[in-house]
Amino acid sequence: MTVTTDSPHAGTVTGGPALPQERRLVTEIPGPRSQELLARKAAAVPVGIGHTAPISAVAAGGGVVVDADGNSLIDLGSGIAVTTVGNAHPKVVEAVQRQVAAFTHTCFMVSPYESYVEVAEALNRLTPGDHEKKTALFNSGAEAVENAIKIARKHTGRQAVVAFDHGYHGRTNLTMALTAKTMPYKSGFGPFAPEVYRAPLSYPFRDGLSGAEAAKRAITMIEKQIGGDQVAAIIIEPIQGEGGFIVPADGFLPALVEWAQANGVVFIADEVQTGFGRTGAMFASERFGIVPDLITTAKGIAAGLPLAAVTGRAEIMDASHPGGLGGTYGGNPIACAAALAAIDAYESENLVERANEIGAVIRERFAAVQASDPRLGDVRGHGAMMALEFVDPETGEPDAALTAAIAKASIAQGVIVLTCGTFGNVIRFLPPLSIGDDLLNEALDVVTAALAAA
Ligand code: PMP
Repeated sequence: MTVTTDSPHAGTVTGGPALPQERRLVTEIPGPRSQELLARKAAAVPVGIGHTAPISAVAAGGGVVVDADGNSLIDLGSGIAVTTVGNAHPKVVEAVQRQVAAFTHTCFMVSPYESYVEVAEALNRLTPGDHEKKTALFNSGAEAVENAIKIARKHTGRQAVVAFDHGYHGRTNLTMALTAKTMPYKSGFGPFAPEVYRAPLSYPFRDGLSGAEAAKRAITMIEKQIGGDQVAAIIIEPIQGEGGFIVPADGFLPALVEWAQANGVVFIADEVQTGFGRTGAMFASERFGIVPDLITTAKGIAAGLPLAAVTGRAEIMDASHPGGLGGTYGGNPIACAAALAAIDAYESENLVERANEIGAVIRERFAAVQASDPRLGDVRGHGAMMALEFVDPETGEPDAALTAAIAKASIAQGVIVLTCGTFGNVIRFLPPLSIGDDLLNEALDVVTAALAAA
């Protein structure tokens, strides 16, 4: 793809992996052309739709995003864990172009096609556990979560659903109810869906509990406040994403799975953010030695095309009557073509292994920073899903202002970083797995300098 801007700096920008993998600042950020777009955005788009990096993106490839002023920013966010194989991956581009020319849509519920079935077969093969599985496709992470709950309720004949402190599952009505944090996700948008309960999580940096202790606390709450025989499903992110990249203590997730099995409760792993190699395993559940009954995926599944899935035990997935699941666009053929190409890239380019290398670089660099800077309270994560939690060194209280300042300064210096956390005090790294060591280290230099200067 070729994108032309008439900026004096940019000239002709060729998108995709041919884009120079470099950080290049030719104006302040935002430059004049980006400012122009942001002014139009403010006039045309509601304030409810925010943005992190104040740029007008015109091209992206691999690990960089180029703006209309000709600036090239290093991407440590992957559009929130989506372009995990690298932006505009050549295999994805080729597959999408081939499919869009063949047919754009039939609706799988009207005229089925092979690529949907192939994606289902791939997910049945790749997700944890060697039991018989089935997969249904949808458009977004929230839609996958909604459908996983529908399926679990139909299968069990029960209604209650347990989500966890710091959890994030989406912005639709049911998923808002499942999501923990009120601002900005829920405030004023109620009433929320009923029969959703919240259990305490394992958050080792803040609660100091072992996995077994944290699981006992959660299970006691469920049994005493809801009743195990009332619960259709437990839904949890193996590593919480928006909530702060919280890695539960060892043993927490296996204890919950064991309790769910003993009580006829469907255990749903929401791997929308952790899935597809991100954590240095194809799915984060593997890192904790658990086999979920159902698993929700989206984001990295199709490299930027909207696609999501629920995959799980065939007998649970088949609980719905014919016609009970679906949607006009779910498993759109262009998105399925992208997913098959992305899955090929994960497997043939050793991207899962690369996630671990990226994680080792980030961990080593920030462990060194932490040794001399007590504001960096915790360095945590797995693979290329790593986070820095910032605190007031005197009190241990979350420092959201410092975190926001680091993110803002990093973006101004041409590195896209995202924040997260219930307390807004976590910088999260979600680089594309195709990023090279040089580009990664340069980006981390910028973040480190922003911390030192803050
Ligand atoms: N679950 C998790 C764990 C997520 O991280 C997200 C998105 N951040 C969602 C669900 C919702 O996905 P979507 O935005 O595609 O609806």
